[in-house]
Amino acid sequence: MVEINSCFQHLKRTYIFSLIEEKIDTLCKNVSANQMINLSIGDIALPLIPIATQAMSQAVLEMGTASGLKGYGPSNGYLFLREAIANTYFTTLQITPDEIFISDGINTDITNILDLFSLSCSVGIPDPTYPAYLDATILSGRTKIITLPCLETHQFHPYPPADPCDLIYLCSPNNPTGVAMNRDLLTNWVNYALKHKAVIFFDHAYEAFISSVDVPHSIFEIPGAKECAIEFRSFSKSAGFTGLRCSYTILPKALKARCEDQELSLHTLWHRRQATKSNGVAYPIQKGALATLQPQGQSEIKAQINSYLAQAKALKQGLIQLGLDCYGGIDSPYIWVKTPKGKTSWEFFDELLIKCHLISIPGVGFGKYGEGFVRFSAFTTPDKIDLALKRINQL
Ligand code: PLP
Repeated sequence: MVEINSCFQHLKRTYIFSLIEEKIDTLCKNVSANQMINLSIGDIALPLIPIATQAMSQAVLEMGTASGLKGYGPSNGYLFLREAIANTYFTTLQITPDEIFISDGINTDITNILDLFSLSCSVGIPDPTYPAYLDATILSGRTKIITLPCLETHQFHPYPPADPCDLIYLCSPNNPTGVAMNRDLLTNWVNYALKHKAVIFFDHAYEAFISSVDVPHSIFEIPGAKECAIEFRSFSKSAGFTGLRCSYTILPKALKARCEDQELSLHTLWHRRQATKSNGVAYPIQKGALATLQPQGQSEIKAQINSYLAQAKALKQGLIQLGLDCYGGIDSPYIWVKTPKGKTSWEFFDELLIKCHLISIPGVGFGKYGEGFVRFSAFTTPDKIDLALKRINQL
């Protein structure tokens, strides 16, 4: 019999959502599902904007005509979308359309990017953060993993480690803590990466939620970042595309890595990797993404983001008034809530679930330094936030 990739046995975290579902199923034997308030969701709560649905419908109809036939698209995405992204977000930063690679999700690219690097590379991973980084690193067979704790005493930001680290995952605004790195903190990381010839994988899934003026909207605003960083952005949370799948990776041509005694362009390698392993993103989806970049699309998605942010603010204020210590929720839809009276993440999760019929996510599911916190999400509706606060108040 063939053997499996033994790295599966080294995966550290249990899949937290199955545990949560088990607990909800047990509770649902006595409580009806519609009495539950779900503040755990990291997924959109508002419908797609009409300009995007119209663009996608038209694209499908176009494909049904002889003149509009479309087969395989380019593995790095259609030029119309790469140009529109460059013109919408990157003119001042001088990122060109051929430095942009369209993909079906950050999740895909931020895990596949490891293909470009030697198995001997050390990998720095914040804790708590989005779990895919650690799982993908372990599955790739890498063993030199450096944990970058995001502690309350450091406002939950990861700091460069004392030891050199080759590859560094950074997520800002971070999921789950909801906090975003300001210009100084990012500059610190870029300088560290330049000094150690490291590469930063910058997950910018929540860029659209940034509202603080000192938080950069791209890592490439930091001098030197084009020589040491790859940025990953998505239409998932910014334009409600979680169910459609469209994202993009910005890989500057200036970024190099060593191959024996030569320096090779990572841009060329990623192009090669994508051409081999990807057949691109569906044409109608890319047309829908394009529509969100038009002025009308931009103002419609901004209105959606603003409503999520307003909900995050209301939820955070309400929780603070109830005496809970809360973080995030300013540049992010997530609020990071400290458990009261020294309870563990799971104890507070259970209490909220059983007594308030409220679903959160235990912070420890995002890493061991998430212990003592739970994550609330503002991807919901205002009525549910009001009800959740009333129920917590009765605790
Ligand atoms: N990165 C972070 C930090 C996320 O929170 C998520 C989804 O929740 C993703 C990436 C996945 O993004 P995508 O839908 O583009 O794959």
